[in-house]
Amino acid sequence: MALLLASNNSGKLREVRALFAAVEVVAPAALGLDLAVEESGQTFAANAQLKARAYAEASGQIALADDSGLEVDALGGAPGIYSARYGGPDLDDAGRCQLLLAELAPYPEPAQRRARFRCVLCAVSPDGRQCRAEGTCEGLIAPAPAGTNGFGYDPVFLVPAYAKTMAELDPQLKNNLSHRAQALAAIRPLLASTFPELALA
Ligand code: IMP
Repeated sequence: MALLLASNNSGKLREVRALFAAVEVVAPAALGLDLAVEESGQTFAANAQLKARAYAEASGQIALADDSGLEVDALGGAPGIYSARYGGPDLDDAGRCQLLLAELAPYPEPAQRRARFRCVLCAVSPDGRQCRAEGTCEGLIAPAPAGTNGFGYDPVFLVPAYAKTMAELDPQLKNNLSHRAQALAAIRPLLASTFPELALA
């Protein structure tokens, strides 16, 4: 049985597929689904649940939603749940990275640039069963963008252990240490016990 990823973000889809090779992960477009779910929750968990529920109800399939983002300590945790919308609708990923670097200009020291990616995954079935897990990845905001892999804020997120940004790391390495990888590892046993029909165990 397939798992529907409640997202049209091709970066997330690529990573979830790479990390969940044992399951068929389908994108909404493959089912002809195009939902605009309002992310009106105040937490990653609330938004992940809203998306998973909406896609499960619309498709009749088990849906897995990812709500994720970047938390920057010097900005009080911003952009957080607003990561995809940071700076308004006219900015693209590169524009959001530039805006973040500009906002952090008053904080040049590495110790002032602590940040983390956070990912909450929530899976919901049409009959209302659900499970949830979270993962984080700690790092620093880089002085300037570097690298072309990944998506979103990867070019400005430095992984101290490798002295490289997420966008400079080999995608397989990112998939070993990312917030999404941690969350997927944590949700896997919960998916297996909550949804035996996925035959994950
Ligand atoms: P969501 O679709 O509301 O969960 O938005 C998540 C946003 O957080 C994305 O659009 C990216 O801007 C950012 N984000 C989440 N995960 C990553 C990642 O792995 N790398 C870079 N940016 C990410």
